[in-house]
Amino acid sequence: MKHCIVIGGGIIGLCSAYYLQKEGHQVTVVDQSNMDAGASYVNAGYLSPSHIIPLSAPGVMKKGLKWMFNASSPLYIKPRINSDFLKWVLAFNKSCNVKHVERAIPAIKEISLLSQDLYDEIKTTESFTFHYEKKGLLMLCQTEKMLEEEIKTVHLASQEGLEAQEISKQELRLLEPDVNLNVVGGTYYKCDSHTTPNEFMEEMVVYLKKTGVVFYTNEKVVDIEMNNGKIDTILTSKRQMKADEYVLAAGSWSSKLAKKLDLKLLLQAGKGYRINTQRSTGIRIPSILAEAKVAVTPMNGFTRFAGTMEIAGINHNINKVRVDAIAYAVHRYYPEIELTSEEKDNAACGLRPVSPDGLPYIGKSTKCQNLTIATGHAMMGWSMGTATGKLVAEVISEKKPTLDMKMFHPDRKF
Ligand SMILES: Cc1cc2nc3c(=O)[nH]c(=O)nc-3n(C[C@H](O)[C@H](O)[C@H](O)COP(=O)(O)OP(=O)(O)OC[C@H]3O[C@@H](n4cnc5c(N)ncnc54)[C@H](O)[C@@H]3O)c2cc1C
Repeated sequence: MKHCIVIGGGIIGLCSAYYLQKEGHQVTVVDQSNMDAGASYVNAGYLSPSHIIPLSAPGVMKKGLKWMFNASSPLYIKPRINSDFLKWVLAFNKSCNVKHVERAIPAIKEISLLSQDLYDEIKTTESFTFHYEKKGLLMLCQTEKMLEEEIKTVHLASQEGLEAQEISKQELRLLEPDVNLNVVGGTYYKCDSHTTPNEFMEEMVVYLKKTGVVFYTNEKVVDIEMNNGKIDTILTSKRQMKADEYVLAAGSWSSKLAKKLDLKLLLQAGKGYRINTQRSTGIRIPSILAEAKVAVTPMNGFTRFAGTMEIAGINHNINKVRVDAIAYAVHRYYPEIELTSEEKDNAACGLRPVSPDGLPYIGKSTKCQNLTIATGHAMMGWSMGTATGKLVAEVISEKKPTLDMKMFHPDRKF
């Protein structure tokens, strides 16, 4: 049995703690927040093996540049003169090619499918009650051009063995009988499922506390001391701590902490927003509004609309223009749904930890023997959470990993 300190109590930290305690380790989780907000709470709740194409795909950089001066665009990269940011942009640009996408697809698919199975398994074996449904995911298109693109992606997904199909306007009406849709058609990924994120997070914390995991919340890791290629001590805002093994699951803040170990982890925070409505919307199936890149999720007792990838540093400022752009897109696709000022005023945001090649960092760097890195999941951290936790626990327990982790190596070159 080892004593493991997990830095960060988002979905990745909690799932790591879960599988570490299952392996018989003693686990402590340290988080600088109250653990009730941020990416792991505001996300769209999709467990989406269908999302096989990494963020860094051909054409994305060009789109990012085009959108740079548009305050309401779904992707925004704020230009900055900062060496970490510039290195990230170069690496991102380098990854936006067909060869990378082809290599990444099987890795993304395998970890997402495993993760979905593990959510199922946790729900059953621990008798958790969090909201979890498998109704699939619709991609709703307003233009023929977007529909054509989405149909190409469906073919790719089908080739990978995922349940995916084109869906006509008439079929959409049958799937969504209680809401009017202003679309030309769409695609349907039956392989996807969805959850209400805060329910899972809260239930998992209660479970972990019951099984002996210690939590230090509102406690920031401010420094890390190394000795002989290993972490010796971590310093928090309240105490010094020592353990046998450490897990870096600090989301968008992970690269700052990695720097203290002389580790260069290219990572940018990608801010996203969510608007909730408690009013009945009639929406039954989770959907992505394809042109607007807005995610729509019928959660437990409310509907969530989430979107925007704003790469503009670490901050939680709410940009009203982007919140309005999400609400406006919703109204364009569902003409009867108009989000109120109050609902928009209650919008919240979270920071996705975005690696430059759209793949997470999972595993040990050769630079630090007792540190396992688990971050960089970008738009897929919720989908990949449980599998990441399992892999972390396997690495620390020196077991053969369930999946090939080569593509996720934290020391990979860009
Ligand atoms: C709007 C939106 C919609 C999304 N929708 C989806 C979706 O539908 N499906 C999907 O798969 N993914 C989705 N994502 C992405 C997903 O939410 C993230 O990838 C995931 O939550 C990241 O989890 P994490 O644990 O790495 O980071 P976080 O959730 O950010 O957790 C990191 C934790 O580390 C703590 N921390 C940081 N620094 C320190 C420090 N120095 N000391 C102590 N603690 C520290 C923070 O307080 C935080 O609690 C979405 C994200 C957003 C924003």
